[in-house]
Amino acid sequence: MPFSQPKVANRFKCPSCGNDKDFFEIVDDVITTTHYVQNPDGSFTIEDRSSQSMGDVKLFCGNCDEDLTPFHQRFSEMIF
Ligand SMILES: [Zn+2]
Repeated sequence: MPFSQPKVANRFKCPSCGNDKDFFEIVDDVITTTHYVQNPDGSFTIEDRSSQSMGDVKLFCGNCDEDLTPFHQRFSEMIF
């Protein structure tokens, strides 16, 4: 599928309050794996961090807290 420029009409928007700017996501049961490398002076530096969700992912409007989970699929496709 060819890449098409996003149109203003395609902007994701809260159907309840019209907010199209702030959203938040809640993820249950996240397993976070962090890899460290020890430096010569004994300190540690994070080399890589990955997280894996074992539970539900929920999406909410950042303005009115409306549950937007049914739109999460579309939301996640627009994260770059
Ligand atoms: Zn809203």
